[in-house]
Amino acid sequence: MLLAVEGLAAAYGRIRALEEVSLHVAEGELVAIVGANGAGKTTLLRVISGVHPAAAGTVRLDGRDITRTPGHRRAALGIAQVPEGRQVWAPMLVEDNLLLGGWTRPAAERKERLAEIWAMFPRLRERRDQPAGTLSGGEQQMLAIGRALMARPRLLLMDEPSMGLAPRIVEQIFDTVERLARAGTTILLVEQNAHAALSIADRGYVLESGRIVLSGTGRELLADPRVQEAYLGI
Ligand code: ATP
Repeated sequence: MLLAVEGLAAAYGRIRALEEVSLHVAEGELVAIVGANGAGKTTLLRVISGVHPAAAGTVRLDGRDITRTPGHRRAALGIAQVPEGRQVWAPMLVEDNLLLGGWTRPAAERKERLAEIWAMFPRLRERRDQPAGTLSGGEQQMLAIGRALMARPRLLLMDEPSMGLAPRIVEQIFDTVERLARAGTTILLVEQNAHAALSIADRGYVLESGRIVLSGTGRELLADPRVQEAYLGI
């Protein structure tokens, strides 16, 4: 199993954000975690990437316990995150954002990878010499994804890539995520947009108040009346 999370808990002081969370992601899978605002989705990704400590439980990458491994080491082991709200380095050029994203890799490989990102996102290539802050929201999301891919991650964590974008752009972003998954990238995606996320996911989990309450294939969850009522407005 590429990623295996067991009995995970996390807190902010006395606020418990995650409780007894167990989930797994196999190599090549696209797994979605859906849940409402404040359910704990961002916290879960932060604990997996090592930005926030686990209060209990374990995180394993390829069988190796990384629960106490610092974030920068996890990045070197192949975990990359596309953060909520994109967080591109606004004053820096598009190209430099990407090159910095590949900091864990040797220079020659970074160049090679950059060429692949340009091929994947021609819009970014056109704008390579612009400060990232001048891009549209959708382009910044593409840049945040490209930046994470520069590290050739074994596991790509994506935090609400559709947030704050117009519906047409959201569609493009989900197309991109699906394309990446088809090309073999292993993805753990957290999303409030349950319909879009479950439609492209192999499997999914529903997170409520810090706990996993349902899991299944994307199709099973889309057809589940509890999901339909709570997240799909059906
Ligand atoms: P969102 O969609 O808003 O990002 P989320 O599902 O990602 O929501 P989290 O951001 O992980 O949820 O938050 C989970 C819980 O932890 C919430 O109750 C939230 O208020 C709380 N929380 C998150 N960050 C902090 C923080 N820095 N300090 C205190 N409490 C926090």
